[in-house]
Amino acid sequence: MLKAETMRASVMSGPYALETLEVRAPQASAGEVRVKVAATGVCGTDLHLYGGHFDPIYPLIPGHEIAGIVDQVGAGVFDVNEGDAVALDPVITCGTCHHCQRGMRHHCVRFSALGVSKAGGFAEYVVAPATNVYKVGSMNLEVAAFAEPLGCVAWGIKRLQPPIASKALLFGAGPIGLLLMQAMLASGVAEVTVVEPNFERRQLALQLGAKLALEPHGELSTELHDLSPYGFDVVTEATGAPKVIAALPQYATPGGKILYYGVAPDDARVEISPYEVFRRDLTILGSFSLLGTVPQALEWLASGRVQVAPLITHRLPIEQLKIALEYKDHPGMNGSQKVLIVP
Ligand SMILES: [Zn+2]
Ligand SMILES: [Zn+2]
Repeated sequence: MLKAETMRASVMSGPYALETLEVRAPQASAGEVRVKVAATGVCGTDLHLYGGHFDPIYPLIPGHEIAGIVDQVGAGVFDVNEGDAVALDPVITCGTCHHCQRGMRHHCVRFSALGVSKAGGFAEYVVAPATNVYKVGSMNLEVAAFAEPLGCVAWGIKRLQPPIASKALLFGAGPIGLLLMQAMLASGVAEVTVVEPNFERRQLALQLGAKLALEPHGELSTELHDLSPYGFDVVTEATGAPKVIAALPQYATPGGKILYYGVAPDDARVEISPYEVFRRDLTILGSFSLLGTVPQALEWLASGRVQVAPLITHRLPIEQLKIALEYKDHPGMNGSQKVLIVP
């Protein structure tokens, strides 16, 4: 079969420099698979890359939340065939370093990722190692594009191990917050109270299973104390805002777990009272990227335990990626949740 030799792709050549170009289409080498992209999600990481953070290697085709149809299979690939609908795990690791050999591949000293340091999914085609390809059967490919962000959330849940029938408090109801909320509810948490300034996002949180969705205000800590006088079993956030993160321990019950989920600026610092952590037996956890958790994400998506269709607010062609990345300057992007690029 004749394979496409060129393709349209969104190419970053430096910070804030992005254009849609006709470039050479990648070809699958041995052990690799080429995917015709159906949908790629835009996420906070792409905004960071656009701003020149996260060590991008230019020129870069960003996009790491990818689903599509396999259209070329390299030599020595088993289990994946042309025509298979798939989602991709973007994390590429060496398999031989200290961390890889101890089962912590996502801390690989040679860590790279599709759409971050290798060509990603804001293009018509993307090539990935066959080991990063997960078949999704008849799942809608826009839904399958959530396999990566939900896989990250699943890793966070594995780290957290929420106590059964627990009460959780979550700050932030953007797309990741709402995935985290649903994943907690599917993993033993009995109820989630959400704090979120945006009205539409609070409404969506309620629609997707939040017990309460509160607007932050000056008396918030009093309101939360009245709601749960002994504190919450799980306290987490999907904001990355240092002010929010600094306030988390005060809401945890003795023995409670605190998960820092949002990505804070790398130079941010918050004050922690070690005495408070000691006196109340608190656990503070972090969660980075994903580690073999795409299958769990796909099970949640296939079973409907995690709903993503209500999170998709925009579908844009490759040429309009810039609008998604500069959403603050585009009134049409107001109230946006998840933006998908559909080549
Ligand atoms: Zn992402
Ligand atoms: Zn490694």
